[in-house]
Amino acid sequence: MAKKTNNSSSCSFCGRGEAEVNMLISGISGYICDTCSNQAHEIVAETIKENKAVPDINFDTLPKPREIKEFLDQYIIGQDDAKRYLSVSVYNHYKRILQKVLSDDVEIEKSNIIMVGATGTGKTLLARTIAKLLKVPFTIVDATVLTEAGYVGEDIESILTRLLQVADYDVAAAERGIVFIDEIDKIARKSDNPSVTRDVSGEGVQQGLLKLLEGSVINVPPQGGRKHPEQKMIQVNTKNVLFVCGGAFDGIERKIAQRLNTRVVGYSAKAKNQNIDHSNMLQYITPTDLKSFGLIPEIIGRLPILTYLEPLDRDALLQILTEPKNSIIKQYEKLFSIDNIKLTFDKDVYEYIVDKAVEFKLGARGLRSIVETIMIDAMFHSPSENKKKINITYKYAVEQFEKSDIHSLRIA
Ligand code: ADP
Repeated sequence: MAKKTNNSSSCSFCGRGEAEVNMLISGISGYICDTCSNQAHEIVAETIKENKAVPDINFDTLPKPREIKEFLDQYIIGQDDAKRYLSVSVYNHYKRILQKVLSDDVEIEKSNIIMVGATGTGKTLLARTIAKLLKVPFTIVDATVLTEAGYVGEDIESILTRLLQVADYDVAAAERGIVFIDEIDKIARKSDNPSVTRDVSGEGVQQGLLKLLEGSVINVPPQGGRKHPEQKMIQVNTKNVLFVCGGAFDGIERKIAQRLNTRVVGYSAKAKNQNIDHSNMLQYITPTDLKSFGLIPEIIGRLPILTYLEPLDRDALLQILTEPKNSIIKQYEKLFSIDNIKLTFDKDVYEYIVDKAVEFKLGARGLRSIVETIMIDAMFHSPSENKKKINITYKYAVEQFEKSDIHSLRIA
């Protein structure tokens, strides 16, 4: 085994003597100094990285759109339209990356996605689940913290810093990752007149995002933060990064309705209007509506796949609570089973939880906090007791919920 030497020897790699280095390690027939051993480590790490550059995804392993949707169905309730759009565009996106091998003159353009739907309807979950299926680096960024370069807030490049971090600084892996940009609606142009005042968190950011979305080589500060001249930048090409944007676009229904009403004039107006489902106007969304909301046409052009999420009704919430592969109820059952306790619920407890989520307007996001409120006492006591079974009855659930500080849930 290699050991530290004491006699006056020199490194077999750089030739420096023992006095010139911090440490010299001896092998069977030579020596290596600390600097050379560090360099050797870096070379090995780099080579391993290069060898696994763009691994995993190939034409054989790339799931087909139907398979992608089937996978999404296991985790996400409803949202069929969004699932179909996403499945097809994700499939096409990775097919496009792979087709470089068959180079001919037809270049398939990148198709980033924009999803419009109320908060808590599953936009992030959809993007996250796709990344999980494809095992590609995935990151979520909040558009509201982004500002134009030079202003207080985060630079656009910070998006890629996060992607690099989740990819463990494997640039090749990051370059085919997925970025979810949440709250894209919050960077809508504040005013119809672009020249009134400088709009550093709105149009300015949209302009900055353009080059990222269309695909270009960006200098990314590896540790994030502002660019320092002395900081070494990592170049990331966003050509194959898939951007999925999501936003609630509060009030866009009115713009859709206006457009539908103004379009539908004349002879067949009445008949057409009658077919409009006013309970879910988002299904009629078009790029024009995004423009009237304040997204600049260039951004809309770089997000060619536009889809929407449906509002979640009571039935959907009930399904979300129990059905997905890692539904909230299944997660609690698992938590208890680790302590060898079989957790069961009376059926009407589920109804009660959903009723409270609807009553407090908490949506799917609130289901978890309600279950947590009901279960907190049981979770506190049961690990110290010798129970093998716990059944949550309706009466128990109501008692636990009512004694909690429900007002804190209202603002949650
Ligand atoms: P959004 O990004 O649209 O605001 P999220 O995807 O973050 O919403 O949803 C919040 C949480 O609500 C998710 O983590 C998930 O537990 C639950 N949820 C929302 N919509 C669905 C759905 N359609 N199917 C299953 N769970 C959902």
